[in-house]
Amino acid sequence: MSDDVTAEDGGAIPHWYSPDGDGITIVDGEDATVYDDAGNAYLDFLSQLYCVNAGHSNETILDAIDDQARTVPYVSSAKHNDTRSALAGALTDVAPANLTDVFFSVTGSEANEAAIQIARKVQDAPKVLTRWQSYHGGTYGAGALTGDPSTRSTLERYAATTGSGKFLPPLPECFDGATGEALAEKAANHVEYVLRNEGTDSVAAIVMEPVAGTSGAYTAPPGYFERLRAICDDHDVLLISDEVIAGFGRCGDWFGIQTEGVKPDMITFAKGVTSAYVPLAGVIVDEAVAAEVRAADHDLGQTFAGHPVACAAGLAALEAYDDGLIENGVEVGAYLEERLKAVADRHDAIRECRGRGMLWSLVFEDPETGEPFFDPLSEAEGENPVAAVRQEAEDHGVLFGSGRPDVQVIVSPPLCVTREEVDQAVDALDAAIETVFAETAAPADD
Ligand code: PMP
Repeated sequence: MSDDVTAEDGGAIPHWYSPDGDGITIVDGEDATVYDDAGNAYLDFLSQLYCVNAGHSNETILDAIDDQARTVPYVSSAKHNDTRSALAGALTDVAPANLTDVFFSVTGSEANEAAIQIARKVQDAPKVLTRWQSYHGGTYGAGALTGDPSTRSTLERYAATTGSGKFLPPLPECFDGATGEALAEKAANHVEYVLRNEGTDSVAAIVMEPVAGTSGAYTAPPGYFERLRAICDDHDVLLISDEVIAGFGRCGDWFGIQTEGVKPDMITFAKGVTSAYVPLAGVIVDEAVAAEVRAADHDLGQTFAGHPVACAAGLAALEAYDDGLIENGVEVGAYLEERLKAVADRHDAIRECRGRGMLWSLVFEDPETGEPFFDPLSEAEGENPVAAVRQEAEDHGVLFGSGRPDVQVIVSPPLCVTREEVDQAVDALDAAIETVFAETAAPADD
């Protein structure tokens, strides 16, 4: 073994790697808690990567994985399999009624790539529109959709990604709007403006998260998605809801777009579909779109797409969500919201608390300047107190997430979390903010 290989990772390079990163080694988990190799317990208030929605030890899912592996562990993705068909049926049962068919894949990135392959083919148009700041994946195809500048610059340092135009997110810092409705109108008009400028005939689809995920848990202002649906209909463009994070109870409903009362042409999903116990993803497509895909050859596929073991995990996870987890997420989510908003009110360093259900962001800002304490996009070096808050919370046994950009703390626990765990985690966050900002504010006397 080379000297460069650290004992912690045994040679496995962590994703989103940074030489300054210092990840813990997780060896065990139960419900909303994980344990490191020294036996320390952590409340997992990020569900690892927003994905272990059912918690870490759901027996129903584990049994289903075991049973399927013993029945038939693998069936070609070009053939039929009963478990795969059952999951397709279960997914279309809980999705908006117009979505009738499922094209499985393995990861969220590949689900988005499959969706745009289908959209481009069905619409016979090359471009897709997505928003700045968004995250839709890190492979070249899905990476083209991603608007997060950090992912873009990493991907595009050596090769251009193509086929995607960008528009601004519906945020107050992008558009003036005295009310949510006014903001929605201005932001949606802007999407139509971008669409016209790209050439409406050249645009196959708009891809958007119903509630932003890694970019900061922001919800759309009221009426925004309705207007987008109308714009897509007017210009014959498909609307694709990326539910890789927002789906499976994370934002209060089976899918985040259902809360908006809007029917998308496709939903892409991954992560929570199996509670991340086994990789699985895919696209749920509208009946008319499915008919077009089925009308001719669609000579694309992936060996592991719709893996039977993953589909069995998916069926069991959906059962668990239906069996009280989504309900618990809504109930405890309301309590989490209340507690986080109280923390936001207590600290001048927090500009905003935003989110829905079990997905929240506390956005930090220097109250004196109205700017981030540290802007990772424009400052190469420096201390980021928001990262220090997360580290302080981790040192006290609670894991939170960083957003893109890293000006926020993201809170996204498993749906099985209890009120007591919320209290413990939010108290630790509150104390961490107190410690870090008291230190930052302390006068330098030497
Ligand atoms: N879409 C969204 C909204 C995501 O947040 C992510 C990953 N965090 C992806 C797609 C890509 O999923 P994966 O990492 O499984 O490729």
